[in-house]
Amino acid sequence: MDIPRIFNITESAHRIHNPITPEKLATLGRALRLEPGARVLDLGSGSGEMLCTWARDHGVTGTGIDLSMLFTEHARNRAEELGVADRVKFIHGDAAGYVAEEKVDVAACVGATWIGGGVAGTIALLERSLRAGGIILIGEPYWRRLPPTEDAAKKCEANSISDFLLLPELIASFGRLGYDVVEMVLADEDGWDRYEAAKWLTMRRWLDANPEDEMVPQIRAELTSGPERYAAYTREYLGWGVFALMRRVEPRAQ
Ligand code: SAH
Repeated sequence: MDIPRIFNITESAHRIHNPITPEKLATLGRALRLEPGARVLDLGSGSGEMLCTWARDHGVTGTGIDLSMLFTEHARNRAEELGVADRVKFIHGDAAGYVAEEKVDVAACVGATWIGGGVAGTIALLERSLRAGGIILIGEPYWRRLPPTEDAAKKCEANSISDFLLLPELIASFGRLGYDVVEMVLADEDGWDRYEAAKWLTMRRWLDANPEDEMVPQIRAELTSGPERYAAYTREYLGWGVFALMRRVEPRAQ
């Protein structure tokens, strides 16, 4: 049970598998005003950077679930490295349907909302683990500008233009689901470069080290065409952000 091998190759050296930088991840941690001992659940926790650094910086405790064996191993190593292995736990497995035994203060899915079948389904899944008054974190792409054609959307790694919304529409969609957007930290082009351009050196080194591997043609094609496509499309059109949500409470009838 694992994710497609291509990601375990191209993102093997990533600490953060999203366009958010370490600085912005720290900004988000501060923005949420996390209390020591706060419990955090992270579905699709990748290499664990969010939980490990927030455990170090804010004393949170947490559980991450991720389908990549490699990323989960990296997350456990990172927890040891930062001295927080007693506070964070990383489970290798499918996070679809995962509900925490004990309710959490923050329930997150950062850049993996297919786990719940989309944003609405993922919010509903996270809600099952969340204490009353807790915060949901959703990391999700949006269009900074609408791509001019469906082909341009595909070159941004989307299946179609309708996969994503413009930022105001995405924010409005959280409202329609019954949530206040109470914070957000948005990626910028530099963050996208850290996520996408970091794959290129990893791919180049992998190609040099694995000339006989069956994945060579695919990785070679990606390294040859990926940088130019990225500069023309994803970097221009795609935004990305983490949105902090709190369920709206209906005013009590007088
Ligand atoms: N939140 C992390 C990782 C985002 S990348 C970060 O910001 O760094 C998306 C992650 O989802 C990858 O680590 C991938 O392995 C994981 N993933 C994909 N499908 C999954 C599933 N069904 N259950 C759990 N994790 C999954």
